[in-house]
This record gives sequence, C-alpha cells and structure tokens, in this order.
Amino acid sequence: MNIADLRHYSIEEYKKAYRSKEFTPTAVTRVFFDRIRELEGDIHAFLAIDEEGAMKRARELEEKKISDTDFPPLYGIPIAVKDNICVKGLQATCGSRILRNFVAPYDATVVEKLKKAGVIILGKTNMDEFAMGSSTENSGYGPTRNPLDRERVPGGSSGGSAACVAALEAPLSLGSDTGGSVRQPAAFCGIVGLRPTYGRVSRYGLVSFASSLDQIGPLTRTVDDCITLFEVISGQDERDSTCAPYPPFSRNDIPKDEEIPKIRIGIPNEYFTPGVDPAISGRIREVIDLLVNKGFPVINVSLPHTDFGLESYYIVALAEASSNLARYDGVLYGFRKEGSFTLQEMYTRTRTEGFGKEVLRRIVLGTYSLSSGYYDEYYLKGMKVRTLVRKDFEASFQNCDLLLTPVTPCLPFRFGERSRDPYQMYLADVFTIPSAMAGIPGISLNCGYQDHLPIGLQILSAPFAEGKLLGFARYLEKLLSIPLPFPEKMPRKESL
Ligand code: GLN
Repeated sequence: MNIADLRHYSIEEYKKAYRSKEFTPTAVTRVFFDRIRELEGDIHAFLAIDEEGAMKRARELEEKKISDTDFPPLYGIPIAVKDNICVKGLQATCGSRILRNFVAPYDATVVEKLKKAGVIILGKTNMDEFAMGSSTENSGYGPTRNPLDRERVPGGSSGGSAACVAALEAPLSLGSDTGGSVRQPAAFCGIVGLRPTYGRVSRYGLVSFASSLDQIGPLTRTVDDCITLFEVISGQDERDSTCAPYPPFSRNDIPKDEEIPKIRIGIPNEYFTPGVDPAISGRIREVIDLLVNKGFPVINVSLPHTDFGLESYYIVALAEASSNLARYDGVLYGFRKEGSFTLQEMYTRTRTEGFGKEVLRRIVLGTYSLSSGYYDEYYLKGMKVRTLVRKDFEASFQNCDLLLTPVTPCLPFRFGERSRDPYQMYLADVFTIPSAMAGIPGISLNCGYQDHLPIGLQILSAPFAEGKLLGFARYLEKLLSIPLPFPEKMPRKESL
C-alpha cells in the first residue's frame, strides 16, 4: 500500500490500523503534514499549523499503553480546528487583524472533549472575519481556495475547515455555523457538514458572533465520521447556559436499518424556485425520484415565511454581533492602535484599523437596529419574524420527519464574483439561514457533481432528532455512492 493512501481512511480504519499496529499515529500525522506542505501554498486552508505540538502529541499517545477495551473514540485521529474555537496555547484570530496576536488561554469545551477522546490537533483554519461571510474572502489573512477548483471560493465562513478536509490535508475538522457556515462550505467542497440543534454542542470557548445562533459542527468526508465526531463533542455543559440538558448524542439514537424506509420526507416548495441553479434543483429532483422509487413516503410541504428568513437574520444576527464585538476595543484583547491622545480616539482608531469592511458594516447596522427609537421597528420585529420562521418548521414536522432541500442556490462561485455586492453574497445562504433561525439541525451531503463542481443536498430535522437525520444521511450516502472529492483525481461526469 502507498502510505499516502492513508489519507483516505475513515476514523474506524485508522483505529483498526492502530490496533493491529499496522500504522502508528506519528506515521499518520506525518502523512498529513506532508500533504499540508504540498498544497498549502495554493489552498491556504490554515492560519496556523502546529506541527511540533501535533508530532509531540502523537508520540505521547503512542507511549501510553491502551488496552483494546478502553481505546478512546478518536485515538490518534488528526483534526483541524476553525480559528474562532479556542485551543489553549494556539492563536485564535477569528480571521481578524484585531486578534492577530491573541493566543487562547484555555480550551473550548469541545476541544477539551476532543483531547480526552485522543485527537491530534494539526492547526487552526482560515475563515471569514468573525465568521461573517460565505466565501472566506472576508478573512483578514487572504482567502482560501476551493481544492476542487482553485479559481473558486470554498464557501464560508468555515472555508478553511472544509477545504482542508476536501484536499486531504486533514481527515476531519470543526467549524461553526451561525447561518450556514458549516453546511455551505461543506457543499462547496463536496464533503459532509453538520449543524447540530442549537444547544446540542457547548459554545464555551467559541468566539461569539451571534450568540442565539452560533453552533459548532463537524466537517468530515463521510457521514459515519461525522457521527463519531458528533458523539464526542455533544452534550450538556454547565459553562454554557444555553446548552441543552441532554446527554451527548449516541449512535444508538439512530433508527435501525429496517426503520429507515419509513422515514417521511417533506419537500418544501419554497426551496425550488427559479432562482436556484437548474443543475442543483435538477440533481436534487433526481435524488427525490430515487427515494420515491425506493418506497419512501415523500410529500410536498410549504414553509411560507422562508423568504423572510434572510431579512430577519440580518437584523437579529447583526444586532447580537454589534454587542458581542464591543469587547474588541484595544484594551483587553489583541491589537491596540498606539499614539492616541484620548481613550475615545484609541477605541476609534483601533477598531477602524483592526476590523475589516464587512465587520464594520455589520457593527454599524446592528448598532442602528438596537438603538433607542429603532429597537421596536427592527430588532423586535426581527425576533417576531424569527418566531414565524420557526413555526413554519414546527408545522411541517407534524407531517414529515425530514426535509430535503438544496444547501445553496448556486454552485461554488469565482473569487470576486459576489464580494462587491454584499446582498449577492448574503443570498448564498438563503437555504441555510431559516433553519438556523429556527434552531433545528441540518446536514449537507454531496449528492453529485455538475462537471467538477459538487452539489450539496441539505437534510433538516426537528430539534434533537439528529438520530433520524444522520441515519437517513448515512443511508442516502450509501445509496448514491458519490465519489469523494480528491483534487488529483476529479470525478468525471460520466462516472456519476
Ligand atoms: N454567511 C452568513 C453570514 O455571513 C452565515 C455565516 C455563519 O454561519 N457564520 O452571516
């Protein structure tokens, strides 16, 4: 076997190889750093690479005697972490110049859990500044390229996390999803991305963008790896009061094989409008036909407030962001512009220089909608509309178990194509935002290619029904058998 083939392994395969002593964690970790060296100049998925720390960790794991029975769930598995999630001793810039010298003083709860489960952290991944964007073009450190087509964006804001997994620079990664930032880049890079139910995964140690929406989620090459990673990171945390009082997700929550074909599928009309790229809607219709042929109960449903999802998100999320980002004032964290005469001047100059254009735009808009006299008209109204969006989903889940939709209305776009017009950029998330506003879980699954560009299928479920969601996603992944993205060997259309 060629050692580079190791990069294609699943978590289970790594663990099997470790148990049988076929390979060691050091050998596997080294293979990923070789790949990172080979591709990073071009892809730029990482903002920080911790080769020394990772190799040391791999050696430590090897030295520990582990019996077959207490093999930790992610023993010796390399992982990349988005740069807005704190890993003690590593930078956490959130893709922003204002945090360029900030080193995390503690581990996020998810990172603590990952470490306990035996992972090896490779580094921190690139992202749109403070997770605001859909392409990584808003990163303060330059964009990430899509490994499937280097002229195109990898999606965002977790673009680095998606690109490194698609490019085989890491087998797994963590991202965060406020309005689509795990699912949309997963779709653009042809991999799996899960946004868990709001409150299913602790946000402690995730740098806040919009606290009522932010969720951490796995990006992986297969649904099974996503399940394993989700099992490890989920569960209640007393350090995050919004974390739901439920035990961690377990693969035992997944329905048995014979139960899967009974899952009722809903197709929301509002997600198949003329604005959707016909290659995407066409392919998803083919998948729906396939499911009908397999005997799944499939019905059409309506989510009448879908169109208001985006508008209300840009009120609620920006209001929360303006208040969360008030802490970056040059006093406690990160960058400070020196040479000011007054405190006010120091704040202004630090923030003007430290934040990028999109972040500044959002702070101004968010502050406006929270200001006295406008609060009722904007923020309060935005919250009321949010309730309507959530009620649409609640009503639809009376009649079906899962909803099937496109992840995005468009295929991965070229650099610069949308960055000049913020509204065009915001539209890349029209199909991921409403479910985020409703707090429900969603997964992005590669369901085929248009030429070499991947098409993402989104599956949504009721809150805390990830068992059904992941069970069905795993079934569909097997049924469709779509080849994984592999930059040197792009799948050809005829093979799909
Ligand atoms: N693209 C959306 C935004 O810019 C969502 C980002 C996210 O989920 N972090 O806000």
